Amino acid sequence: MAAHDLSPDMTFSLAPPRGRVFDSIVDVVGGTPLVALPRMTAEDGLTARVLLKLEFFNPLGSVKDRIGAAMVLAAEREGIITPGRSVLVEPTSGNTGISLAFVAASRGYRLIVTMPEGASIERRKMLRLMDAQVELTPSRLGMAGAIARAREILDTTPDAWMPGQFDNPANPLVHEETTAEEIWQDTAGSVDIVVAGVGTGGTASGVAHALKRRKKGVEVFGVEPVESAVLNGDEPGPHGIQGIGPGFCPATLDVQALDGVIAVSEREAIAAARRCARMDGIPIGISSGAALHAATQLAKRPENAGKTIVSIAPSFAERYLSTPLFNGL
Ligand code: PMP
Repeated sequence: MAAHDLSPDMTFSLAPPRGRVFDSIVDVVGGTPLVALPRMTAEDGLTARVLLKLEFFNPLGSVKDRIGAAMVLAAEREGIITPGRSVLVEPTSGNTGISLAFVAASRGYRLIVTMPEGASIERRKMLRLMDAQVELTPSRLGMAGAIARAREILDTTPDAWMPGQFDNPANPLVHEETTAEEIWQDTAGSVDIVVAGVGTGGTASGVAHALKRRKKGVEVFGVEPVESAVLNGDEPGPHGIQGIGPGFCPATLDVQALDGVIAVSEREAIAAARRCARMDGIPIGISSGAALHAATQLAKRPENAGKTIVSIAPSFAERYLSTPLFNGL
């Protein structure tokens, strides 16, 4: 526990860092807490320490806030885009749109997000609240339709630029420079294993690059849906674990940097997420449940006894109110 200048009879202490005012919402990204799961760990009789990195402590509630900020700020630094003039265009039905929207609003960019019609109403409304333009594409065309439409807009709009989360090197790099360093510092270097769901692969790859440089023997595992286990050699398929399992191997994923990719079913992911909410009071999203399921499996292996395992929790349960995570509740 950090020492604070509080009177000795105070029961609660304020979490650091205090004593500063942030210049804008973009400066609040990162610095998310690493939290233990005491009750689940006890019930499973684990000697390994499983820790969750709560990425929903980011300002717009997901791990994607890191790359939303990083991709835009990197492009500004390189002179590719200018506030007030450039138009950002990105095909995304997920958290990346929301993360780009707050950065675009805060820094003065127009943003156009293309997405298939099926995307949830909450997401569309959040985007519009932050003044992003939402272009819906036919749901029968899937993400390919949204990507094609984004390219069209890019070709016909002056000063348009696509952040391109699946290709942009600023994506893995921000995890290398921030996510990994936070894990390193918060565990005082005792981290042995990190588990992260693979969407763009930016989180898993960036964390692997930095931690393996820091400490020999650190292992990093990716997680993908059983229903679309492309990295394990299966065919892509429809699945319910939003944010991971894009069905192809993205440029932002460095498979060589990983020690394995664990396939988890939607059912297992949801069961782990619900158990985490019920037992340790942490309502995580579905892909967080997938990573936690894989982390718990690793924690049960005899060779991992006594190790520190960090599982990335990309988002909060509330973003999945209309999904099977809440079935029967
Ligand atoms: N889970 C959720 C909910 C996400 O939004 C993402 C990002 N697409 C991921 C997991 C995977 O992160 P990454 O793209 O860094 O692989």
